[in-house]
Amino acid sequence: MCGIFGIYPHKDAARMAYLGLYALQHRGEESAGIITRNCRRTYLHKGMGLVNDVFDEKNIRALKGEMAVGHLRYSTTGSSSLKNTQPFYVKSKIGDIAIAHNGNLTNTIRLHEDLETNGALFQTTMDSEIIAHLLAHSPNKKDYKEAITWSLAHLEGAYSLVLMLNDVLIGARDPFGWRPLCLGKLDGAYILASETCALDLIGAQYIRDIEPGECVFIYKDRIETFKFAEQPRRAYCIFEYIYFARPDSNIFGHNVYLARKKLGARLAAEFPVPADIVMPIPDSGTYAALGFAQASKIPFEYGMIRNHYVGRTFIQPSQDMRDFRVRIKLNPLKEVLAGKKVVIIEDSIVRGTTSKRRVRALLEAGAKEVHMRVSCPPLRFPCYYGIDFPTKKELIAFNHDIAWIRDFIGASSLEYLSLEGMLSSMPLPKENFCTACFTGDYPASAPCRLCKESLER
Ligand code: 5GP
Ligand code: MG
Repeated sequence: MCGIFGIYPHKDAARMAYLGLYALQHRGEESAGIITRNCRRTYLHKGMGLVNDVFDEKNIRALKGEMAVGHLRYSTTGSSSLKNTQPFYVKSKIGDIAIAHNGNLTNTIRLHEDLETNGALFQTTMDSEIIAHLLAHSPNKKDYKEAITWSLAHLEGAYSLVLMLNDVLIGARDPFGWRPLCLGKLDGAYILASETCALDLIGAQYIRDIEPGECVFIYKDRIETFKFAEQPRRAYCIFEYIYFARPDSNIFGHNVYLARKKLGARLAAEFPVPADIVMPIPDSGTYAALGFAQASKIPFEYGMIRNHYVGRTFIQPSQDMRDFRVRIKLNPLKEVLAGKKVVIIEDSIVRGTTSKRRVRALLEAGAKEVHMRVSCPPLRFPCYYGIDFPTKKELIAFNHDIAWIRDFIGASSLEYLSLEGMLSSMPLPKENFCTACFTGDYPASAPCRLCKESLER
């Protein structure tokens, strides 16, 4: 997962990119970077940590120019280090290339080997560097449209891209459309962003989504668009609606908050509980819990209060740090919980380890019964397209049935929304979605063997 942003031409491009990334921070907390271009020179600043750790007034001012590309990283492939931060920048035969990528390619290792055989020297292990090498190797370097079409035709898997190619800002989305990417406008400048919440913050107007298989070229004085590939089916990531995107964003053309509330309402219809209160595991479970409470007419309460200065628990790659952050994130409210039958709503269960701790904490705070309802079906299969789901071994629902998981987390009852229920709560017809993490039904050909091994670890 990652967040991407681009703007051109805007006199305050770097500052707009900084603000855009600030709004998209939930899409990646590991590193942040912005590259700008001015009079054929590029300016790059990137570093490990949150947007606010990486940028300050001084380094934003130093990023000169009317074009900016920004990136937030949440490592899925490539190790977590400064070398692997984005935007990835190279000077090459085609000129200056900077790439911000969200998604996961599924033929990386094969492409890597082919390119190395042809003399490419790699600096990193990132997908985005492969795209840069392809552009640099494209047979027709004069015609950018041909160079892009030729390069993207080599890629398999998920990619939403924001690219700087000399004086053109480019946006592209893979033909299946796994990851979101939208187009906006502000003061005559065009903007590309992962989610509309980035447009809202800078007061930009949403124009439309970039279509799957579409590429837009943004020049100083105009915008051009073309289809570089056709694909009969869509594969929008349903997990963006369930968990990943910000609730105030519209992605794939529809609002996330409303979709989450519908999931909760449907969950209440499928698996009712006679309880005293409905509470979320904040923040990700909040919107489904609201939907559940409104549909079931059980009062909504906050039974745990979140410390807002702690980041998302999953972002830290190492197990030890994640556990630490889980403990400091949520504090149960004894006054609300004591003696109560509680339904807790969780957006998803991945490993089950945080759920186990939450249930225990609620019981220790005096809850009489803790019933858990999850606003998506059991996650059973790894994601090859950019969500950081662990190996099958670590996905609790790959190895165990619901009764086992219920006992493991210590809940009085546990139910997951049905696949049908999830799909019918979505704002788009079900054929549009990738549900591989629930069904194992991968929309595209399997990743190459080595990529699969590296993705499944
Ligand atoms: P578990 O109970 O599996 O240990 O943790 C589930 C929690 O992880 C849920 O609250 C859910 O919101 C969150 N979660 C699910 N998928 C992801 C992800 O890809 N990244 C992060 N940071 N959290 C996730
Ligand atoms: Mg959560």
